[in-house]
Amino acid sequence: MKQVPMVDLVGQYKKIKPEVDAALAEILSNASFINGPAVKQFQANLEKYLGIKHVIPCANGTDALQVAMMALNLQPGDEVITTSFTFIATAEVIALLKLTPVLVDVDPETFNIDPIAIEKAITPKTKAIVPVHLFGQCADMDAIMEIAEKHKLYVIEDNAQAIGANYTGKDGHSRKAGTIGHIGCTSFFPSKNLGCYGDGGAIFTNNDALAAQIRVVVNHGMVVRYYHDYVGVNSRLDSMQAAILDIKLKHLDEYADARRYAANYYNKAFATCDKLKTPVTAGFTDHVFHQYTLVTHCVDRQKLMDHLQAKGISSAIYYPVALHMQKAYIDPRYKKGDFPVTEKLCKTVFSLPIHTEFDDETLEYVTSSVLEFLQ
Ligand SMILES: *Cc1c(COP(=O)(O)O)cnc(C)c1O
Repeated sequence: MKQVPMVDLVGQYKKIKPEVDAALAEILSNASFINGPAVKQFQANLEKYLGIKHVIPCANGTDALQVAMMALNLQPGDEVITTSFTFIATAEVIALLKLTPVLVDVDPETFNIDPIAIEKAITPKTKAIVPVHLFGQCADMDAIMEIAEKHKLYVIEDNAQAIGANYTGKDGHSRKAGTIGHIGCTSFFPSKNLGCYGDGGAIFTNNDALAAQIRVVVNHGMVVRYYHDYVGVNSRLDSMQAAILDIKLKHLDEYADARRYAANYYNKAFATCDKLKTPVTAGFTDHVFHQYTLVTHCVDRQKLMDHLQAKGISSAIYYPVALHMQKAYIDPRYKKGDFPVTEKLCKTVFSLPIHTEFDDETLEYVTSSVLEFLQ
């Protein structure tokens, strides 16, 4: 039976294998595993690609978020506003640093944080906003930056899912996702749009002083060698991952095109199906489709997913539980019903396979299998 996994990293690797294998062989032969030239080169190339002054590589996307909050010197009790509909890492680091996560609901069309809800959640203790560019399209950054400026708040973009997406502001100027707030964070987890073959992450900023502080935090709080002025962490991107990322960065835009091609194929196939709502892209952003997420209407979602699985087609629910309903994050401030849009999405969304290696035959197999169940 045909198998359609959520991602196809093997197929993608085969196309860049000679280059990747040569780069890894070189690192093996000179043992420049940590802070080798490959790391500097990738950092410089990513800075150029993003049009940002500073990229600071680190060990993973979760660390990137934690380091950002540490570099901003956020203190226990400070409130950080984020979305109730995201991967747990966003809220996890807030909780780990003993900051107070303040959750707000999302826009039902784009699934991204709702700026009106952000403004309502601001208190004198609020210090930062963490928008997540969920599934591959940018949150409403003009509105978010305006609120941040008005209330003197930092903005940390969780860009783990939207690297390469373009945001066009009201000024008509186009910028890359993750370069608009004070700090941007990303993940190079293998299945992300720019993924390595292990763990990796990076932090972006245009602010020189912040960049310097971020470099200190990721390196044990060390300002002068073996003099530790801050409590930091150890968070590095290793040379092999950097070399792989540098090769894949050259293909990032074509990877996004391939994802958009698949998304358009799905969109067309489902356009007239009243049981499925296809993804809506906001006017100010393009969409790099980290996930292709449908909202079901009057459908037994689990039965649909079981039907697909029986035909070898993977599907997944991002995310089945709202942050305020997660066991570890139960908080007397929040109860069921507080974030109705998120809670409804958790019950109705599901995501189809999306990656860079599809052919039309496979896309047809997926769409006809979905429609077959719904008819
Ligand atoms: C993947 C992801 C992260 C965490 O990245 P890791 O590299 O796995 O630590 C954070 N936020 C979002 C929205 C993500 O999708």
